[in-house]
Order: sequence, then C-alpha cells, then structure tokens
Amino acid sequence: PVPSGGGVDEDPPKIRVVVRKRPISKKERERGDDDVVDVLAKNNTVIVNEEKVKVDLTKYLEKHAFKFDESLDENVSNEAVYQLTVGPLVRTLFRNGRASCFAYGQTGSGKTYTMSPLPIRASADIFTFMAQQQYRDISLCVSCFEIYGNKVFDLLNARKKLNILEDGKKKVVVVGLKEFTVEDVDGVKALIEESAKNRSTGSTAANADSSRSHSIMQFALKRAAPAPAGGFRRGEDAPEPRVVGKISFIDLAGSERGADTFDNNRQTRLEGAEINKSLLALKECIRALDSDARHVPFRGSKLTAVLRDSFVGDQARTVMIANISPCSSSVEHTLNTLRYADRVK
Ligand code: ADP
Ligand code: MG
Repeated sequence: PVPSGGGVDEDPPKIRVVVRKRPISKKERERGDDDVVDVLAKNNTVIVNEEKVKVDLTKYLEKHAFKFDESLDENVSNEAVYQLTVGPLVRTLFRNGRASCFAYGQTGSGKTYTMSPLPIRASADIFTFMAQQQYRDISLCVSCFEIYGNKVFDLLNARKKLNILEDGKKKVVVVGLKEFTVEDVDGVKALIEESAKNRSTGSTAANADSSRSHSIMQFALKRAAPAPAGGFRRGEDAPEPRVVGKISFIDLAGSERGADTFDNNRQTRLEGAEINKSLLALKECIRALDSDARHVPFRGSKLTAVLRDSFVGDQARTVMIANISPCSSSVEHTLNTLRYADRVK
C-alpha cells in the first residue's frame, strides 16, 4: 500500500472527531427497527430523524443535529476510515509523534469492527516507511493490554495482571507489560488474534464481559541507540533503544455501561462507575489538549493515566471515532454518543 499522510510538512490537527454510522442489520429490520439516523456527508452533519423516531426526543435532548470533522455513513469502507483517521498520523510517528485513536460508542455500534483493522493497516504503512533509507534502524514494538474495572491485564501474556506505577519523572508505566518486536504485517495480525483471544469474555473470566473493558494496543517505534565510539567495553550493556514515536489504538468499553451505576449487582455498579469515570476523564483530557490548558486531568482514571504520554506535549494527536447504531431502539444511546463526541472538541 502507498503510505498516506501527504507531504512531510503536513501537520495533522491535534484533535479530530469522526462519527461513523453502521448499517442496520437484517435482524434489526425483521424485529421492526427503523434506520432513524441521517448522515449529510456534504456538510458532515448527523441528524437523528425525529419524524421516524417513535419516542419523544425532547425528553432527552433539545439538539438532534450535530456537525463533526467527518460524519461517515454506513457505506464508508474501513479503508476510507483509515485514510481519514490514523493514516495521516503515521508519518508523525517517525518524527517523535504521539498519537491515540479511540473507538467510542454503545455495545454493538461497531467499535471493534472499526478499530480492529486500523493497527494492521497502519503497520502496513509503517513498514513501507521503515524500508526507506533514513528509517532502516527503526523497529516496531507491539504491546496490548486491557483495563477492566481498575485492573490491568496483559493481553499478550495470558492475561497476567499488571501494576501501574508512576516513576520519579511522573511517567506512568505498566510494569512488566510484554512487548514484541514485529517484522511484518503478518506478525501484527498474529498478535491481534492472540490479544482478541485473551480479551475478557465469558469463557476466559467468569462474568467478565469485553463490553466492560477498554482494550489498548500500542505501537512504539524505536531507534537502536548508536554503539559508543570505539565499540562496547566488556560487560557493558548496549544502550536502550530510544522511542521515536508511539500510537495507541483504544477500543473503549461500551458507553452505555457507564450507566450501570444503578444496577442491583454491586460488582456491576462498581464497574459501571469506573467506566463512567474513565470516559468522563477521557473527554476532559482531550478537551484540555485543545485549550492549551496547563493542567490535563489524566489522573482522573486508570485509562487516562496510562495514556498520559499521548496527551502531553505539542506532538500529541488524538482521533476520536464515535460509532453509532442507526436503530430507532438505540436512539437514546446514539444521542448520548453524539453529545459526548460533540463536547470532546
Ligand atoms: P461493538 O464493538 O461496538 O460492540 P461490533 O464492532 O462488534 O460492535 O459491531 C456489531 C455488529 O455490527 C457486528 O456484527 C459487526 O460486524 C457489525 N458492524 C459494525 N459496523 C459495521 C459496518 N460499518 N459495516 C458492516 N457491519 C458492521
Ligand atoms: Mg466490541
């Protein structure tokens, strides 16, 4: 594939908010659901069509039309989504860029469908760049973990539970997270498959449910440190490779889970509260990026704490993809998602 991202001097915006509507399924049609979401691609507007919705929308929100950087209808391909979101960020990773791409939305809105091809597609561009002369000494390192409740699990190491620590320089590290150097796109695919297997599902962790967890895949581009002049001395370790660029792909917990704070089950309530807290903290952190605020509230949740280095500095770029269902039965969640995405920027 041809690397996207335009010229070297092109500087992608700090924050980009993209809404993607998924198609209505046959099953949904059969049970009497209607497609009530209109995307006006020309002016990037999403409208929840009041006339088609059977409930009174004024109960939920006054506003039913929202404008975003991109509003994508159900006919937009994953490749086009890549070109509009992560594609332009790839080049920045070779010049100390920090990037994060989030998929937000209710369970079943298309987050995983949208997010899972992006690291694979990005790695294809990354390897193309790496084949160029000036990037020959750079390698791609991949790690993947899940935040469930306030616990962190390594998805590339049999769900090993990990701790988060802040070092003296206020750098937040996930201690002992496994990292793999990958040589080609197939290597990335294999790691994604493994992480998907390890993601919490009913089969690997009783009652654990992937819609309640954030899954995070990280790419670090590392440049081997040059050997010291005169070569290594005996017993001397080779210097640590330096991180050139970093990008995180985040498949967020189902946004509707944040409302589980009213559930009868205590565990579910606690998990709901944590999800709610992390999604609110995330919104505040992204907003702070845009406003040049000194204080970014990344301590507000585990999620934002571990993504801290993606939020600080002039080199940080964030893409938020808000996924929405077209269904009349999901209209409250859809409006909540549109409102969230609207307030991120
Ligand atoms: P989530 O991860 O938000 O729970 P999924 O990504 O699993 O949602 O999507 C729910 C269902 O809808 C899946 O069967 C998926 O294949 C389908 N789907 C989602 N988005 C699209 C799309 N843009 N085009 C076609 N099918 C989609
Ligand atoms: Mg999913």
